[in-house]
Amino acid sequence: MAEILRASEMGFCMGVRRAVHIMEDEATPEKPIASAGEIVHNPHVVEQLERTGVHQLPGPDEVDGNFGAITAERVGTGRIAITAHGVGERVLRDLEGAGLNIIDTTCPVVTRAQRYAQKFVRDNWHALIFGDPGHKEVRGIIGWALDEEGQSRVTVVEHADIDHLRQVIESFPGGFPNKIGVMAQTTHKIDDFAHFVGNLMLLQREANFEMHVVNTLCHATTGQQAAAAELAHQVDVMVVVGGKKSANTRHLRQVCEAEGARTYHVESAPELQPDWFEGAERIGLTAGASTPDRSIDEVEERLTELVGTA
Ligand code: SF4
Repeated sequence: MAEILRASEMGFCMGVRRAVHIMEDEATPEKPIASAGEIVHNPHVVEQLERTGVHQLPGPDEVDGNFGAITAERVGTGRIAITAHGVGERVLRDLEGAGLNIIDTTCPVVTRAQRYAQKFVRDNWHALIFGDPGHKEVRGIIGWALDEEGQSRVTVVEHADIDHLRQVIESFPGGFPNKIGVMAQTTHKIDDFAHFVGNLMLLQREANFEMHVVNTLCHATTGQQAAAAELAHQVDVMVVVGGKKSANTRHLRQVCEAEGARTYHVESAPELQPDWFEGAERIGLTAGASTPDRSIDEVEERLTELVGTA
């Protein structure tokens, strides 16, 4: 018998809930819509939306190189939804240019980050984003930070350690810019971003640059991470529920591991293994921002079957 405890904040965030509601309202099986790329990093949500008439097209990266293929005919009803992660300005204009009716579900928190990147570039600051350069949200933000010649004025940096940052500064093509606007992928961990900013400040002693920092982190994500850390501290085993490709779910796992809890990341209930919970008296449960309530409930029910409840 073990006690199963839920994190005080977890699961679907405002941005994903909003995007899913908008798409559900717009689509019917008779009048489907298309989405520009993966709606959320969760296959269960994607399947559910597919049944209601939301069909997923290749993501903007693929769309990027092949705008001509995104035609009103291909999209079916001529309506295309931009997902919560957002897309760059050029993608948006090209979809409009293809004659498509756009349903924009970009999360307002992501839109805010896009606007900051755009403002930095317009004000002649170079944007430095702490994030994953391959992540859809980051690629979208980059797409709002092009100068008048269409050149990117953004550098994405993946690691916060000072040696890596020094290398970025020293090897910058044409010399490091003297005015940099610093921001983060919305779902990054707050401690990591603080470390990133702190190390940049230390490097200002070595390199001559001015720095303007904006906190573009998402409160929903930082709240979930804090709740997961608090719970992980009190339990023997943590189960993190969410898509394997979901960045914020992976970060939740890292947060729990950093608290010393044995942590397992599953997408769905059947993945749970009985031997993970041997000897555990308290088991914690948390879930990423793209994990629907139903998946969390199913994992909790399966956990209860495996370990009973104290
Ligand atoms: S995690 Fe935050 S930024 Fe991302 S979709 Fe949800 S509310 Fe928006």
